Amino acid sequence: MELVIRGGRVIDPESGLDKEVNIGIENGKIAKICESDIEGKETINADNMIVSPGFIDIHMHEDPVAKLKEEAENSSAIFESLVRMGVTSAFGGNCGYSRFPLKPFFQDLESKGIPLHYGSFSGYNTLREFVGVVDPYASIDEEQKISLHDNIRQELETGAVGLSIGFEYSPGISTREAIEAVKVAAEYKGKLISIHFRADGHQAEESIEEMVEISRETGAAVQVSHIGSCAGFPGVMDKALQIIDEARAEDIDIMGDCYPYHSFCTAIGTAVFDGGCFQRWGINYSSIYIAEGEYRGEYCTKELFEKLREESPETMVIGFSMDEEEIQKAIKHPLIMISSDGSFSLDQGHPRGAGAFPRVLGRFVREERKISLMEALAKMTIVPARRLGLKNKGRISKGKDADLVLFDLETIIDGADFNTPTRKPEGIKTVILKGVPAVRNENIVNYKAGRVIRLKDR
Ligand SMILES: [Zn+2]
Repeated sequence: MELVIRGGRVIDPESGLDKEVNIGIENGKIAKICESDIEGKETINADNMIVSPGFIDIHMHEDPVAKLKEEAENSSAIFESLVRMGVTSAFGGNCGYSRFPLKPFFQDLESKGIPLHYGSFSGYNTLREFVGVVDPYASIDEEQKISLHDNIRQELETGAVGLSIGFEYSPGISTREAIEAVKVAAEYKGKLISIHFRADGHQAEESIEEMVEISRETGAAVQVSHIGSCAGFPGVMDKALQIIDEARAEDIDIMGDCYPYHSFCTAIGTAVFDGGCFQRWGINYSSIYIAEGEYRGEYCTKELFEKLREESPETMVIGFSMDEEEIQKAIKHPLIMISSDGSFSLDQGHPRGAGAFPRVLGRFVREERKISLMEALAKMTIVPARRLGLKNKGRISKGKDADLVLFDLETIIDGADFNTPTRKPEGIKTVILKGVPAVRNENIVNYKAGRVIRLKDR
């Protein structure tokens, strides 16, 4: 064998395996799993470690400004932070915004190399702006719609994993317009539709009902994006989860994801902060923390809020609006998987991009015992793998991709906070991408072990 992982407690949520076994890896695949010794050219000792399938982050965002390194041209704070927390496959292009067109972007990533496996949704809001609908409140005309639909087909043929729609960022997108676009995407079997809600707080229920309607009318699989930031309010989450449960009982293919924090992060100039948001969330200006730029580290006042919206609308801010207990309800729910929703702007932003996965394992599994280890790992591996149609990832069984993470359950914890949002976690020792160690002793040792994930039609 080329590589052997010896002595770890191997957990595979697909089969329920939870046992001390050795793993032999050859040609990037898991070739052998057994209790007896395996001979290998190289052996990694996993004593006292959990060996899990590498985590799959179904919802992240590309950094607006990539931190370029000579040895890793396509690296960026988010890619590095994700792989250091055990994510082996990440999916961007969410909330309606992606690179366009994806083909040259994918080719560039492939020719220069990336620190983890990466795939992308095609962002509907991006495509809409590209055909000339620049005002987020405007509707689309027939001619624009025809060329937009052609672009959807082009991007899905290129290998986008699906279409993402950001209703809140472009309120001009009507339900009808979205259904027409999703029908185009649904021509490509197996494509997932990820949707950022139209409105949050007490309007979250209507937003999720809209997503149910889109799935019902098109037959497409719909992913409710970051349900915590949409419905993480007392009295709202229970109803939101109930709507999803009831839709599933009617055979509507809807699930969701959640990041384990009770604060959200977005640009201050977006439509998220248009009139009425503070009443909806029950907070005021002082709950908005400025995450980058000249006023970094300060909380807003009315004056500062208005000034930044006017003068630097791209500034990332963090809103402390949600409720932790409500977030935990989502994290525990069987139809909700774990995501990071992370991205950084010149190393600044929300700590979720460097802490989401170890935070669930350290806080919710070990310290607070809110959820079992097997359940939490399933939500980070096999559940998102199935959701995205990844047949060879998210599992530890013979013939599957050798994407693995080795961590210490006694010490794993997130290190990132609002002051140091990219600080690395503790306890995640080794990360392996297709049989190649990318992280050793908690440090990145290979910035180019990742591959672009393009989904072929199933
Ligand atoms: Zn979003």
